Parts: sequence; C-alpha cells; structure tokens
Amino acid sequence: MSREVREVLIKKPQAKSWVVAAMAWSLVVAGFGLAALGLAGNNLPPPKFRLTAGGTAIAPVKYPFWRRLSDQIAGRKYIMLTVDDGPRGHGVDERILAILARHGAHAVFFEVCANITSPVQKTQHEITDGGNIIANHSYDHLHLTQLRPSPLQNEIEGCSSRLEAVTGRRPAFFRPPWGQTSPAVLNAAHAAGMEQVLWDTNSGDTWLKDPQKIVQLSLDQASQGGSILLMHSRPTTADALDELLTQLQLRGFRFVLPEANNKPIWLAQNHRTLRWHFRMPSPAQTSPASRGLRRA
Ligand SMILES: [Zn+2]
Repeated sequence: MSREVREVLIKKPQAKSWVVAAMAWSLVVAGFGLAALGLAGNNLPPPKFRLTAGGTAIAPVKYPFWRRLSDQIAGRKYIMLTVDDGPRGHGVDERILAILARHGAHAVFFEVCANITSPVQKTQHEITDGGNIIANHSYDHLHLTQLRPSPLQNEIEGCSSRLEAVTGRRPAFFRPPWGQTSPAVLNAAHAAGMEQVLWDTNSGDTWLKDPQKIVQLSLDQASQGGSILLMHSRPTTADALDELLTQLQLRGFRFVLPEANNKPIWLAQNHRTLRWHFRMPSPAQTSPASRGLRRA
C-alpha cells in the first residue's frame, strides 16, 4: 500500500469525526438557545389582547416574532374568562372571585343590571377591586333582537348608566343575552360606547350538572388558545372552577383580559370628571332606564 493511500485512509476518519463533533455541538447549542428562548417569556407579562372582529375570540395587539416563538416552544397559550348573568348572590360570586384570585386569574363579568339589587351591590366593587372587569349583559336579559329601538336602547344604554352609577365607570364591553345579536343590537352597543363580545368556547354550565363534565367540555374546546370561555355565575360553575383553572394552567394557559378597542371609552371612563367640569347632568337624570321592562 502506497504512503498516499495510507494517509488518506488514516486522515479521512479523523476529518469525519471532526465534522460530526461540530454538528453535535451545534445541535446542543441550538437546543440550549431554544430552551432559553422558551424560558425567556416565562416571567414576562402576557401580550396585550384585543377582541377579534367578530368578538368571538381574542388576538394579540403586538406579538413580536421572538415572543411568538418563545410561547410556542414553552407551550404557553392565552384565554379570556367570562362570567355571565350575575350578580347571583348567596355567596356564589364571592366563591368565584376567591378561586380566580387563588389562580392569579381575572375575568370579565357580564352583569344583568336587574340583578344588581342593594344586597349584592357591594359585589360589584369586590369584582373590580380584584382586577376583574364589569361589563354589560343588558338590563333584563331579554331577547334583544325582538325589541323595538326604544326598549332596545333602554336595555343596553340603561344598563350602562346603571353600571356607571354603581361602579363609577361606564362598561367598555357588551354581550347580548344568549349571544343573540343583529345589526340593530350591535349599533346600540356601539352607540353606548361598547364592543360586542361573544365566545367560541362554551363551558356548558347552563345545562351540565356535573362539575367534572363542565371542566372536560371546556378543555375539549379550548385547545388552541385565543379563546373566549363562556361561564355563568352559578353554584355548579363555582364547584368546577378550581379544577378547570388548574387543568388549563397545566396545559400552558394564561388568563388575559382584553384591551378596549373603542377610542371613546377613555372619554366614557372619565365621564364623571367631565360631568363635574362641565356640569353635565347625572345619568340618573338623563338615563332612559328601562323602568317598564325591569323584572318585578
Ligand atoms: Zn346570559
């Protein structure tokens, strides 16, 4: 065997092993890099979210590529929790608030204004004090699509005025009862300075009696993130909530609230200040509240 051939036979494996070692190191470095990128988002606050055009889901306002990649690597997802038909009374809202707080979660409470009687009025402050949002679910929980313009306005604007009188803030979000909406309902909500919110994930808590089934139905639907989860202020929901939030967190979900999209909301939220400056009449004097439509 010639000297040249021997050199080639000896050197070639060395060259190969060097390339393999370099590739292995690159993979290790890339792996550590991806893991570090995934971890980097762990302690950051969630991105800001807004409602999508149809109001059935949420989407980030700004989502830089590195942040999206970091969330995908770490399996982080985001969901918006909503609680309808309160205040319920009998301690149900308080139980829900305590469970939310235990999980560091917040929700939007779509309140039926006719339910805000004096015994549960303080609940409204407990909701906002806990960092949650109070929103409009109409005055009497009627089929709004069947109403004429004047009673429709009473149901929507009347409830916003009532919520403002109780909480000091006009609501920025509105959900029609049963999700029944129409161009007239949507226009009335916009005229009152609110965005319409629907949902894409139904916990089934209005018909399911077993808390475990409420948990399972919610988890089955909310797999992708960006969802709006519909729940209600009910004892069964309160029974299911701790397990539901635990399971969502185990699956990488973080709980987010939406940013208000409508520019006039800033003005609406500062309505009290403006009224003081410009001596505007109080909502109680001007409100077209649906006195004739309230439940007995
Ligand atoms: Zn409802």
